[in-house]
Amino acid sequence: MSKFKFAMYWAGSCGGCEISVLEIKEKILDVDANFDVVFWPAAADFKYKDVEGYDDGFIDLCLFNGCIRNSENEHLAKLLREKSKVLVAFGSCAATGGIPGLANVANAQEIKDLVYRDNPSLDNPEGVYPQERYTMPEGELELPHMYDTVKTLAQTIDVDYFMPGCPPEAHQIATVLDVVIAALKGEGPLPAKGATIGVAPKTCCDECKRVKEEKKISSFRRIWEFLPDAEQCLLEQGLICMGPATQAGCGSRCTTVGMPCRGCYGAPEGVVDQGAKMLSTVASIIDAPTPEEIAKIAASVPDPVGTFYRFGLADSLLRRARV
Ligand code: SF4
Repeated sequence: MSKFKFAMYWAGSCGGCEISVLEIKEKILDVDANFDVVFWPAAADFKYKDVEGYDDGFIDLCLFNGCIRNSENEHLAKLLREKSKVLVAFGSCAATGGIPGLANVANAQEIKDLVYRDNPSLDNPEGVYPQERYTMPEGELELPHMYDTVKTLAQTIDVDYFMPGCPPEAHQIATVLDVVIAALKGEGPLPAKGATIGVAPKTCCDECKRVKEEKKISSFRRIWEFLPDAEQCLLEQGLICMGPATQAGCGSRCTTVGMPCRGCYGAPEGVVDQGAKMLSTVASIIDAPTPEEIAKIAASVPDPVGTFYRFGLADSLLRRARV
């Protein structure tokens, strides 16, 4: 029997999702036993024209990581959608925009100005900016068009499943691969279309083993300002920990080693806007008698957008700053 066809693609992201697949260790042998890799540019030399030559639905499973930042990302998302039976938004950037989605506080021109004009570490006396087209004696060069707004994968194409995490945890990837392989072999059902997979019900707080008592905060601190208690809830110690507003499934790895949850597994089931949920949580635990003192404590939260919407701005109700 011929093997199933596997593809993985890297759009607007850091590449950590690609590495996370290798973290499944010996489970990668199951991937090899069941799949032929037909497109995985980070692992082998495939060309876009290879994909263009496949029949529609030729790829059985495509893991698409990265947000839609530019025209090349969008073209590949649409192409891989046509060619794939099962397409997964793999990792936070594809599922909710991820860290690149924070660029939605600016537009493309503002970002280029920051990098190529106002950047003190750049030596660019002639103010050269990248051109989308440039003609050389050898021929015409082309760069993708950078969009003003970072989009999630589902804001661009129809997505079968969402698998959050920055990156997704290896044990969750292995579980999902088992389910998909069984389904492709006709030995089990696929999850319902549109499901978030590789997660657990409840929140990161429910998985976290730290001692939870009464949450009353009179000041917020940052992780480098003090050595947190090894047992107590980090939020109760004044650290913004996104645990109450984050889907479980990672095993609460960050809080286990003393780092607050950053929220990369996205909003828990039933929560529309992760940042708004966390803002509501923070508002409910500020312990101060007057509006002035409440405002002062709230103002001590550094970088509110980057804190509450670190992985989900592009997927939030806000989606982007006005331009
Ligand atoms: Fe754990 Fe953070 Fe939840 Fe506290 S707020 S219980 S540290 S996940």
